[in-house]
Amino acid sequence: MAASMRKCVLIKKFNVYRNFRIRNESRALSCLVTNGKRFSGHVESDLHGKVPLFSLPKLTPWQQFRLMSTDNSAAEDDAAEDEYHTLIKDTERAKGPSENHEFQAETRKLLDIVARSLYSEKEVFIRELISNSSDALEKLRYFQLNDENIEDRDLPLEIHIKTDENKKTFTIQDTGIGMKKEELLENLGTIARSGSKAFLDTVENSSDAGKNIIGQFGVGFYSSFMVGTKVDVYSKCMEPGSKAYKWTSDGTGTYDLSEAEGVQRGTKIVIHLRGESSEYCVESYVKDVITKYSNFVGLPIFLNGKKVNVVQALWMMEPKEVTEDMHEEFYRFIANVYDKPRYSIHYKTDAPLNIRALFYVPEYKPTLFDMSRETDSSLQLYSRKVMIMARTNMILPKWLRFVKGVVDSEDIPLNLSRELLQDSSLIRKLQQVLTNRLIKFFQDQAKKDPVRYDQFYEDYGLFFREGIVTSPEQETRENISRLLRFESSKLPAGERTSLEDYCSRMKAGKRNIYYLAAPSREIAETSPYMEAMHKKDAEVLFLYESYDELVLMNLGQFDRKTLSGVENDLVDNVGDSNTVDEKDTTSLSQADADTLMNWLKSTLTNRVHKVKITNRLSSHPCVISVQEMGSARHFLRTTFADKSQEERFRLLQPTLEINPCHPLIKKLNTLQSEDQYLAKLLAEQLYDNAMVTAGLLDDPRSMVKRLNQLLEKALEKV
Ligand code: ADP
Ligand code: MG
Repeated sequence: MAASMRKCVLIKKFNVYRNFRIRNESRALSCLVTNGKRFSGHVESDLHGKVPLFSLPKLTPWQQFRLMSTDNSAAEDDAAEDEYHTLIKDTERAKGPSENHEFQAETRKLLDIVARSLYSEKEVFIRELISNSSDALEKLRYFQLNDENIEDRDLPLEIHIKTDENKKTFTIQDTGIGMKKEELLENLGTIARSGSKAFLDTVENSSDAGKNIIGQFGVGFYSSFMVGTKVDVYSKCMEPGSKAYKWTSDGTGTYDLSEAEGVQRGTKIVIHLRGESSEYCVESYVKDVITKYSNFVGLPIFLNGKKVNVVQALWMMEPKEVTEDMHEEFYRFIANVYDKPRYSIHYKTDAPLNIRALFYVPEYKPTLFDMSRETDSSLQLYSRKVMIMARTNMILPKWLRFVKGVVDSEDIPLNLSRELLQDSSLIRKLQQVLTNRLIKFFQDQAKKDPVRYDQFYEDYGLFFREGIVTSPEQETRENISRLLRFESSKLPAGERTSLEDYCSRMKAGKRNIYYLAAPSREIAETSPYMEAMHKKDAEVLFLYESYDELVLMNLGQFDRKTLSGVENDLVDNVGDSNTVDEKDTTSLSQADADTLMNWLKSTLTNRVHKVKITNRLSSHPCVISVQEMGSARHFLRTTFADKSQEERFRLLQPTLEINPCHPLIKKLNTLQSEDQYLAKLLAEQLYDNAMVTAGLLDDPRSMVKRLNQLLEKALEKV
């Protein structure tokens, strides 16, 4: 079958193997994949997605991803994968005299620690060597682009790894820029890299020198001595006519350097494995490590002649070239779930930092477990396609932990340690840029497709609240708060508004954004606090979740306006008057009102701090006001949950505001001189009712006895 006719298929549904989709139906299919191997039967083009029943075994996400192929070149890659191809030859020999050199003192120290490193961290040497090769190849690519004269111009840019179980060796070879004599002396004899220096400093400053931190730092080239008793390096610089060299050392005090022959352009490193590290000459073992750390290295990596990394670094591609299917497959690979992304965000920028990022928000609704999980993250950090961290929670703030994806930045030095990551200004900058980008993206989505955004808000809105409460800078908090949505007194039930839209409806000169916490719209609308607001004709946001009140209290301000609970607004107006409206004929007289207030104060002693008159209620007899009502409610639910009634009242210092026009208040006024017993029952009940409405009395059982007494009284004459 001609290469141009080759076409791979994409498995659409992972567990239903019959359900293939054919990418280009006008072409004949020549390759299907079974069990990770090519099935090379011929399948006619008119299948239109229906492919004969194949029994494929259950595939891992990785295998599934490898099945994806989007064009002919990828199909040809697959073809190449089938063919054995290696550049590793056994032709290199030292020639002439060899010079013996001492390692720089710091390097000796480092090598000493490396040699004693623990078993679990050793595998990172593969990542280190691949990343060095990849650097050397990227540099060569640059020279190639600039059309410079290059030794062995036609050599492909590749990384080859060979494991030899008989000789107990691990070999890695690249066709990169290679090293001259001085470079070998300089690069492999001294510690030039900041990462190794930082590692040394940390180890020296900690009492426990054998600490398990090499894996975090990576110690570059020297990590090869973690697994090797002897390391040979052959290198030939890309400059035409360069001499080749052999560098060899057992990683103790010294190394030997001599000229060499039979060396290709680039660098070949042969590690003679220690007995206890012999797993690194086992192909399958090495393959797993490569897959783990260097999956997305942009250059082909061959292991024993077979290509092992077929995955493209999608985030490096042009966003418009990445199809939805590619996103879907990649998301599954990254997040390791069989779900779809609901949002895919492909972000590329070069200023203020170089960033290539792919972010996904899962389609699934997060479970309680996802919410409570604080550390886990499916975000991978790369620098120039070399993985630095597989699961990092340092690149995005904690509240964005639901975002899966990849961040690649050239500005991040390879092997940056976790400690450095944590307090690096670079990382802070990166975090800030990415956070703003994501918030901006969600905002745009809200405008573009409000229905979809609404669902997203339902499912993931809790994370935004967390973001507001946990972000230290007001700017960030306000930024996140743009994502919040609430029902409002000015909108029909079910419709939600953003704070921004609320502000756009505010009357000029007004400075408060009002909110009211209530369990439902009905309760909110009929609340006495709402009634008090009506006269102001101000819009009020309804918060149905008690945590939303905390969030807005915490936010404090939005766009230079004050977020204010309507109950607080009542308190703020305490000072204005304590007088009845004499013109209102339905009202108690001022004298009666004053007597009633005094009587109430003594009757409800230990329960009210103050009694006052309000003219802002109409259908409600009275209302409770408390300084910082929202926090008070929160305290009662948490810190003061087990305190006595008396202690609670001392904390709250509630003010009882009475409506002098209300029939019950007027009745109370007559009763207090005629029937003290009934008057007391009524006063206490009105007070408790107001406390319930304020959300300050959670257990209404205490008032049942009194309610019965009141009913008895009311029915006496029936
Ligand atoms: P780093 O990669 O952080 O600089 P390493 O210890 O890994 O530190 O490598 C030290 C230096 O050795 C590199 O900077 C590079 O100049 C040189 N080097 C290592 N491996 C190669 C290679 N395969 N090809 C060319 N140069 C290399
Ligand atoms: Mg390196």
